[in-house]
Amino acid sequence: MEFSNEHFLKLKEKKKIAMRNAQYLYALSSEYMNIKKQYTDSFYRRAERILNCLSYWEWDRYKINKVLNLRKVSRCKDVFCPNCRSVNVYKAIINFTPAFNEMMAYRYNPYLMTLTVPNIKREDLSSEIDKMNKAFIKFWRWLYKPFSKNGSYYGGYKERLFDSKGAIKVLEVTLQRSDWNYFNIHFHVIVFLENEFPGDFFKKIDGGYQYRTKSFIYYSDADIFIQKLWKMAYDKKDISFFSEASDDWQDNYVCDIRELSMPKGIYEVFKYCFKDLDIRNQEIFRDLCDFPPTMYHF
Ligand SMILES: [Zn+2]
Repeated sequence: MEFSNEHFLKLKEKKKIAMRNAQYLYALSSEYMNIKKQYTDSFYRRAERILNCLSYWEWDRYKINKVLNLRKVSRCKDVFCPNCRSVNVYKAIINFTPAFNEMMAYRYNPYLMTLTVPNIKREDLSSEIDKMNKAFIKFWRWLYKPFSKNGSYYGGYKERLFDSKGAIKVLEVTLQRSDWNYFNIHFHVIVFLENEFPGDFFKKIDGGYQYRTKSFIYYSDADIFIQKLWKMAYDKKDISFFSEASDDWQDNYVCDIRELSMPKGIYEVFKYCFKDLDIRNQEIFRDLCDFPPTMYHF
């Protein structure tokens, strides 16, 4: 796979970010000096690798001048290296393509689903991610198409609006603009559906005014359905209580499901797990270090 220089036009900007992140890692390294020696060493090595990774890129760029062959470039692969991160995004999309094509061949329809939870204190990042992953497993079982395996029958929630056949979920963390002590965490999920009714996805229910987008938003029956399921899964409730769950979006968390626009939607999902701009200081960087190293879950 080859990438033209166009993808790296922002190289200067990326270099700045890489250098800044390396500085943060050096700072963390000294912070742990008298606490945990192995952390000191590992943060230091990561900082060094990010800086070296960049020099390879520069060298390669000037030498070839037209096209970069990524297979030949030695990379640090650090989550805080902006170059490696964009390469990872492209690689993840390429890896996802066969599975995507297979789903399309089976005539499953791709949808884009977003699942959020209330903003959390920054220091709770890793425990919150853990909680969300557990909730997703529960949530997924309810939506999954029934199947038999080794003589046992596995069914989902009987009243579900559609059957889900496969999904890929990507976690995104953003900084709360109004208070930097909080993170917003959410999942972007590409989900493949079968037996869905288009009318369930028509957005007609008043969802109030959203300050972030400065617009009035509307929900569909499918949105309300996944809002209820997601809140129940997050609250560790049993599905038998579904009829008692509130239909009001204000009692649930912001969730949305819509048809996946191609290829824009794919890039939307894979693009970034956190924004470099959000790393405003050393403390935010430290809390983001709890971010899981694997970004994509197939
Ligand atoms: Zn790198």
